[in-house]
Amino acid sequence: MDRVYNFSAGPSMLPEEVLKKAQEELVIYRDAGMSVMEMSHRSKVYQDIIDEAEALLREIMNIPENYKVLFLQGGASSQFAMVPLNLFRKSKKADYVKTGLWAKKAIAEASRYGTVNVVASSEDATFNYIPELDKSTFSPDADYFYITTNNTIYGTRYTELPDTGDVPLVADMSSNILSEVYDVNKFGVIFAGAQKNMGPAGLTVVIIREDLIGHAMDITPTMFNYQIHAENGSMYNTPPTYSIYIAKLVFEWVKKMGGVPAMQKINEEKAKILYDYLDDSSFFKGTVVPKYRSLMNIPFVSPSPELDAKFIKEATAKGLVNLKGHRTVGGMRASIYNAMPIEGVKTLVEFMKKFEMENR
Ligand SMILES: *Cc1c(COP(=O)(O)O)cnc(C)c1O
Repeated sequence: MDRVYNFSAGPSMLPEEVLKKAQEELVIYRDAGMSVMEMSHRSKVYQDIIDEAEALLREIMNIPENYKVLFLQGGASSQFAMVPLNLFRKSKKADYVKTGLWAKKAIAEASRYGTVNVVASSEDATFNYIPELDKSTFSPDADYFYITTNNTIYGTRYTELPDTGDVPLVADMSSNILSEVYDVNKFGVIFAGAQKNMGPAGLTVVIIREDLIGHAMDITPTMFNYQIHAENGSMYNTPPTYSIYIAKLVFEWVKKMGGVPAMQKINEEKAKILYDYLDDSSFFKGTVVPKYRSLMNIPFVSPSPELDAKFIKEATAKGLVNLKGHRTVGGMRASIYNAMPIEGVKTLVEFMKKFEMENR
């Protein structure tokens, strides 16, 4: 069987080149005489892998010296607790923007440890837009301000970052890290689960400004304390060694592709192909307010749930898989992360045109 075009929201496609390289090095890694999975994380050969992964990520994201890069486990969902446990230190107040299910979960978790001020929400329209932010509603004494840069389920993204002044901006970047250029200096903390744009599940990357480390609440479990991981080079305990290795190969691939600016250009081109078609079609339509459309996750609907189901079934048979929308929104969703080639998007649009002709 050939490889399909996998539109899964996560875990999602990896570049074929990365998989082939991993295959080449799978049984015997270079001159180690063993696979990366079998290595001690304390060995020199593994230290070189993790060091290179960090160096590459620093290079492609242009991460300043005064930020630490941590390779953790527990998924982005653990960060929903780790962020408040480590950052609540003065007022124990934080501002959150409620733009979807992941933001809601983050709000619920932070509320266990301090006061959460929801400055804006788009829940009134099933999160199909990013709410306008009014600075007068921000808490001037907040310990941090929290956003989800790309809302995976609903397909929205911030096209402009909020100006939070001296209040550190915290971003869940799980579904759009490395897909567009961000100035890391604008953030206090960036975190992302790897399984959308960086590698396999099991790895969570945290990029944190150094002055925000070392102030965890007393109740913070050791494994949830950023300081512990920063002081131990992400090796307080066994890190997700193989996932870090694959992420390193993905970072190499991004660099080879021309870095994040080049990825962004390709992503804009890919998204435009699909959005242009959705705007022209009288059959399919996009569900997101155009200004806030994501480059990574594109939800759309046909005229009826029955046709949605038929579309998904026929697309699957053509090797266009995982197009079903999230269970809370229905319809379809095409996730077109960095690893989705432009041919995949073109093939999808051709198939949509054909389906429209046959079913309208
Ligand atoms: C997938 C996702 C999560 C959850 O990630 P886990 O690694 O499964 O915990 C959180 N936030 C966003 C924006 C996501 O896309």
